Amino acid sequence: MSSRPLDYFQFKNGELTSEGVPLEQLAKEHGTPLYVYSENALLDPIRRLKKVLSEIKPLICFAVKANSNLSILKVLAAEEVGMDLVSIGELRRALHAGVRPEKIVFSGVGKSISEISEAIKYPLHSFNAESVPELELINEVAGKHKKRAKVALRFNPDVNPKTHPYISTGLKQNKFGLNRDEIITIAKHAAKKYPNVDFRGLSIHIGSQILTLNPFKEAFQKIKDLAIELDETLPEPLEFLDLGGGLGIGYKNEKPQTIENYGKLVLKFFGKKSDVFGRYRILFEPGRTVAGNAGVLISRVLYRKKRKNKDFLILDAAMNDLMRPALYQSYHEIVPLRKFSGKKRKVDVVGPVCESADCFGTGRLLPEKITSNDFVAILSAGAYGMSMASNYNTRNRPAEALVKQGVARIIRRRESFEDLIRLEKTE
Ligand SMILES: *Cc1c(COP(=O)(O)O)cnc(C)c1O
Repeated sequence: MSSRPLDYFQFKNGELTSEGVPLEQLAKEHGTPLYVYSENALLDPIRRLKKVLSEIKPLICFAVKANSNLSILKVLAAEEVGMDLVSIGELRRALHAGVRPEKIVFSGVGKSISEISEAIKYPLHSFNAESVPELELINEVAGKHKKRAKVALRFNPDVNPKTHPYISTGLKQNKFGLNRDEIITIAKHAAKKYPNVDFRGLSIHIGSQILTLNPFKEAFQKIKDLAIELDETLPEPLEFLDLGGGLGIGYKNEKPQTIENYGKLVLKFFGKKSDVFGRYRILFEPGRTVAGNAGVLISRVLYRKKRKNKDFLILDAAMNDLMRPALYQSYHEIVPLRKFSGKKRKVDVVGPVCESADCFGTGRLLPEKITSNDFVAILSAGAYGMSMASNYNTRNRPAEALVKQGVARIIRRRESFEDLIRLEKTE
């Protein structure tokens, strides 16, 4: 398995814990809704990927949009992880967390002139360019600042990742990347048309929550073939290939590929025994694989609303705190923070927001005894949880806690009403 919902959170003496700390204790101490992350859980996927790929010594760049809390970026940076970002705000976060610019990849389909102008001042690993006009702009801005821009072209390999349409990015109808012909044309005119750009790499990212290896296999073959072809066209051969992120995790009973099998597939194409060993540095941009099962969202039950066939559990967490179920109809396991005895009964687990999409799960079998002031954890909430949270319904975004070896600390305080209205003017 890449990971499962309860890999890093264990029931001990009937209580759900993180690295030995009972989550109910954290809920009572810091209030709810509360995101809780385990440091060990964040590092485990990184260490495993590094281990299986030790012969190629890849650069692993965490996709900051999955979870952009500064403390989490810092934990990863201390593990020699770089960052993959999609906005200037994420660049500022990464630098603030102490990540070296040389380990930063700037991705994204719509970088603005102000973003490029600011980013060009740092010796970034690369800009991943996704269109001809963007490339022209990068060339122009670099010239104006008397810099050379290191660029990787994002290749859209037209591979079906067989995931949710909203998180599929490598099909030709998607807005992302450049197709093969566009890339060949760019390469042919590289020196003349883009004098301030060094074409150093190719990148792909075909989608997210990909559960089988086949789409990766197809994409790896295509990027490798294209790289070899480009090396004959470009003034200088490519230095690196960025294989993106996208490896799925377990939310329910899916069987995502293991990190080890994913790594072995990479080695088949680029490892010691491959025909291009040592020719390209290999990069990765994992987000969900790293953070997904490293975090949970803890919530208090406000009410149990009884109905004939199934009850409603109304939580103090809502779609503004964790948007994935509303946005993608995605599944998250929901468990009480302590074991209950007695019968179970079907419930719909919902939030208080005035939208029917504000629902964390329907028809879940949960103990009949769970009621007001009991706590539940929504699992697998470490990626695309807090980073997607909003203030809809004028709700304060949750606090976040990070547990390390039995000690929890708050890494983001809960928002206050004052935080929410600070930018508004009444006259
Ligand atoms: C979102 C994103 C990632 C991370 O995807 P995961 O599925 O979370 O691994 C990587 N690269 C790019 C360019 C992205 O936009």
